[in-house]
This record gives sequence, C-alpha cells and structure tokens, in this order.
Amino acid sequence: MSILKTVFLLITFVLVGVWCSCVHAKDTIYSGDKIQGTQTVYHLNPESLAPGLHRFYLQAGWRNSGMPIYVPVIIIKGTANGPRLTLTAAVHGDELNGIATIHELIKEIDYQALSGIVVAVPGLNQPALNTNTRHYVTSNGSGNKTNLNRIAPGDISKGGAQAYMARIWQGLMMEDSDLAVDLHTQTTGTAYTYYAFADVRNKKAEKIAMLMGPDVIKEDEGVNGTLETTFMQKGIPAITLELGEPRRFQADMIYRSVKGIKNVMRAWKMLDGEYENLSSKTYVGKNISNISADIGGIAFLKVGLLDKVEKGQILATLNDPLGREIANYKAPSNGIVVAIATYPLREEGSLLVRLLTEIRP
Ligand SMILES: [Zn+2]
Repeated sequence: MSILKTVFLLITFVLVGVWCSCVHAKDTIYSGDKIQGTQTVYHLNPESLAPGLHRFYLQAGWRNSGMPIYVPVIIIKGTANGPRLTLTAAVHGDELNGIATIHELIKEIDYQALSGIVVAVPGLNQPALNTNTRHYVTSNGSGNKTNLNRIAPGDISKGGAQAYMARIWQGLMMEDSDLAVDLHTQTTGTAYTYYAFADVRNKKAEKIAMLMGPDVIKEDEGVNGTLETTFMQKGIPAITLELGEPRRFQADMIYRSVKGIKNVMRAWKMLDGEYENLSSKTYVGKNISNISADIGGIAFLKVGLLDKVEKGQILATLNDPLGREIANYKAPSNGIVVAIATYPLREEGSLLVRLLTEIRP
C-alpha cells in the first residue's frame, strides 16, 4: 500500500470517527434548566447515568411562541449490565392506556433487581396530548396535522413534526435499543381488543408479541415511518401493542400490558424469574378486513370484540336519522372481531368492524 493511500485511509477513519461521535454523543447534554425540580436535557445517553430511577424532560422543539416543547422521559438503569428496552406511549395523542402502563410499570421495577436499562417515553406526542387531539399540529400558520407514527425516525432539517420526531429518536439514542414496544390504542370512536402487530418473520419480534399475552397477533410486514418498523429496519426487534380504547384508562389493559412487559423482560434476562405463557388463547392471523360505513348513519353493532363470525353474518346495521334501516354489513369471510366502532354516529368511510382473518390453526 502506498504511503499516500495509507494517509488517505487514516484521514477517512478519523473523519468517520468524528462524525460518529457527533451523531452518538457519548454524554447526556443538560440544558441547564429545571421544570418543577426536573432537569431538562437536549440529549440523553442512558449509559452515562448512575444506576437508579431517573426522570427528565427532553427538549424536542419549540412552539411558535418560542416556548420549548418538553417530552417526559423515565430511565431505569439497573445495577447489572443487560439489554436496553425502549417503551413509547401516546405517539398518537388520543391513545392513553400506554401512559398508565409505563407509570404502573416503573412502580414495579426495582433498579437493583434490573439487568440493563429501560427507556420509557410516557407521552411522546406532547403537542397532541396538550390539545386532546390525535396528530401533531404544527404551530405555524398552516396548522398542518402530521401522523408522527408515519415519519419516524424524523429529519431535523425538515423542521416541525419531522424535527420533533428526530430530536426524540436521536436524543434518546433509540437506535441503541435492543428491543422496543410501542404502546397504542384504537383511534377515537373505536376500540381494539388487546392486540399486537408483529413482523413474525423476525422470530424475536414474534416472541415479544407472544410473551405480551395478547388476544390476537396480526402478522404484520410493517409500515414505513412507524416506530415499530423503524426499529425493525435498524435490526431491533419491536412490536406495536394496541391496548383497547382511546381517551381513557382501562384497568384490565394496563394490568395485562404491565404483566406482559415484565414477562418479556424476564425472557430477555432483564429480570430474574421464569417467563410464562400469559394467554390461554392467542389468535394469530395473516390479514385484516375492515368493514366500514359506505354512507353516513347511526350504527347498531351486532357483534362484540373477540366474537367469531362466519362469512355472510350480519355485523352491523345503519339507520337514518328517522330510524329506518338503510344498510347492513356482512362479514366478507370467516374471522374474529378485533376492533369495533364505539361511537355510534358513523361518517361515510369510517370503521364499523375490523376482522382478523386467515387465522393460524
Ligand atoms: Zn396509535
């Protein structure tokens, strides 16, 4: 190798090294401010913290008034080394059960009995949570709404929702996770059962989903820009976990998801003890079939969550305002009801019933 070539390679290595250390800053960068006694950070390296339970606010952007937007972050760092589990809740602002799941989970985990690190974001979409809406609303004149769960990992150079997502993704070093669970519910006006989306081609993702003990798993090849798929594309096994209904706390969903996450943590040796099968029956299906209103009307559902239905069975009827039945909706195939409309007034195109189909025997 010529001297020139060696020098060139050395310079390249140094430059790449400098670039990497910029992208993955080794330390936690404190802003110097505190909010009600809690330190605020621009960047958080969980590895840099002492063992224990830590709470921070990550500055992920600014409103148009110049006020910062802070995202709550909880880190539990164990006394022993182990995997890093990332938990995110409320990337959609109307989906609240996951917030309670994280709040309950941290009460049950003693850092002295933990191997590894839990990074939890109990309320990812602060602009939506603060306005009781689902999507991130930009605070410039346009007021555009952005589905944050379609733009991960974000892009700081694009500003707005893209920059917000990127500051969370990069600021919490999410790419260094070993596994991840993104907590959701159905959207406003509808309800899911306890339901996991998992790309079962990845056996670790399938295992996480099974260990959560859900009623159903949808075999899911992923959607670009979701947190789940972004993690998976980086080689980090991840699932999306749907916890029932939006805009409320449901004790059973919170109980099951806390138990499920601890079960996963045992399987990944983050906690002592044996993991177990938490569900007497988990249905795993290849497809979903959405039955939606094709005109606006008042819906009467004939089925409930987890009902088994046969092709041709009536799932729902629609009335006009004067009480006349104007439509009925039949199951296009055999399946299991995994989501239903809970708000009876249905706009044209809105969901009535979602079936899981092509279920594994
Ligand atoms: Zn969601």
